[in-house]
Amino acid sequence: MVRTPLVAGNWKMNFDHLEATYFVQKLVWLLRDAKFDYKRCEVALMPAFTALRSVEVLVEADNLKISYGAQTVSVTSQGAFTGDVSADMLAQLGCRYVIVGHSERRKYHPEDDANIVDQVRAVLAAGMQPILCVGESYEERRQGIELEFAVGQVKDVTRDLSQEEVGKLVVAYEPVWAIGTGMVATPQVAQDAARAIRAHVESAFGRGAAQTMRILYGGSVSSHNAQELISQSDVDGFLVGGASLDVEEFATIARLT
Ligand code: PGA
Repeated sequence: MVRTPLVAGNWKMNFDHLEATYFVQKLVWLLRDAKFDYKRCEVALMPAFTALRSVEVLVEADNLKISYGAQTVSVTSQGAFTGDVSADMLAQLGCRYVIVGHSERRKYHPEDDANIVDQVRAVLAAGMQPILCVGESYEERRQGIELEFAVGQVKDVTRDLSQEEVGKLVVAYEPVWAIGTGMVATPQVAQDAARAIRAHVESAFGRGAAQTMRILYGGSVSSHNAQELISQSDVDGFLVGGASLDVEEFATIARLT
């Protein structure tokens, strides 16, 4: 397998910096106990901005093999943008990833495709990797246009990117109807979407970019469904929401991936 699987915990607006510290310590302890091989599967955490510095300090002090990143980013680099956090600020905190275009950001904030493209560019320019979220709503699935829709979102965001930039993207296929609902996609549904996205990347950017790009599945992932989902050839890991808040559950998902 050319792609190292990635399990990323999207904590959303949960855990202050003290809770985050406790979580990381316990996670590392659990994984050590399970003789977890970090070379076989990468583990990442996506805390709120306020907890990033605490996670960085811990990771650096103990030389932990955990990656981390942010849940969104400003498209501007500095200046009079009250409340925004720039990509350079995140890179300076040691972030490797930034989630871009999560459906909750698309829904609750004015994040349209143009803004998402700018976020992807800002993240790449700062030397980090975007985890680009795409996925259809229940309505699009009902109409039978789910693959077109998810691939269309990838197309829209990557259209003006170079082959090299696309090679650095992680795509998370997250059907909106599966997020936080307990209605996980079947392994076949996840595989079909991941394969369609990879096929598009191959036709637009070549086999190299398609084969190195990691495509995650997200939406009600748990220790009960992770193993079946990861057995699909185009599913390279998970973006885990609710289940990433329970450290034992998250550690189990990482072990099964
Ligand atoms: P969920 O969330 O695992 O709670 O469904 C996934 C996500 O929003 O990334």
